[in-house]
Amino acid sequence: MKITILGSGSAYGVPMIFNQWRNANPENPKNIRTRACVLIEENDKSVLIDAGPDLRQQINSFNIKDVDALLLTHGHYDHIGGVPELPRASTLLGHGIDVWASEETMSELKISYGYLFRGEEPEGVGIHWKTLPDLGKFECCGLNFETYRVPHHHLHSSAFRLGDFAYMTDWEDISEDGINVLRGVKCLLVECNNGLYYEKNGHSNLDKVKEIAVKIGDPRIVLTHLSARVDYDELAKFVPEHWLPAYDGMVLDM
Ligand SMILES: [Zn+2]
Ligand SMILES: [Zn+2]
Repeated sequence: MKITILGSGSAYGVPMIFNQWRNANPENPKNIRTRACVLIEENDKSVLIDAGPDLRQQINSFNIKDVDALLLTHGHYDHIGGVPELPRASTLLGHGIDVWASEETMSELKISYGYLFRGEEPEGVGIHWKTLPDLGKFECCGLNFETYRVPHHHLHSSAFRLGDFAYMTDWEDISEDGINVLRGVKCLLVECNNGLYYEKNGHSNLDKVKEIAVKIGDPRIVLTHLSARVDYDELAKFVPEHWLPAYDGMVLDM
């Protein structure tokens, strides 16, 4: 399995609009972050997790040739801003794209992009909407995923495990169900939006990630969805030896 981190940034990317870098050192290219997005390639299938507003740029700059399915974590703009690209993507690929979302996320999508659900988009026939369970197993492109939900602001995010890899973004807490799904995983890609800082903003920081790492068996951990508060080198100094902050283009071979 090959995991490519197409985007490692938080809601506003780094630099933010008007070239604002906050704590991130502009001299380090690892601090240039597009919105969070992950590509999983396994058994000749390509599954994207989230489609934010940088999707077109990410697909083009990493020269990705195919996408079979999209898993959506939740309905915030930085995770669904690229969903309207999919009807044309499906036409250009010449095949359908399965789009998985929980009932809650599907409601958010219908509010944001009503026209995609009313049959007004002629190319929309290639999009196959699928309902994600809130907890448990599901099969996507012949791959056996497990999912659970985590609280995040007023919403919930769906998190995913596929074999020895798991991805959990936009979370502020985790239930025992979530810990049970993650237990024994070998690599966890996890949101650490606030880095070394504490902020009550629906996101996590390094201390919170450390708490769950102990409970799930101390896997390799990669920290993503990093805000402009986070400087790559500064965060890297404070993580255990088998952990790393993510950067755009980082590849994890499993
Ligand atoms: Zn986010
Ligand atoms: Zn969010």
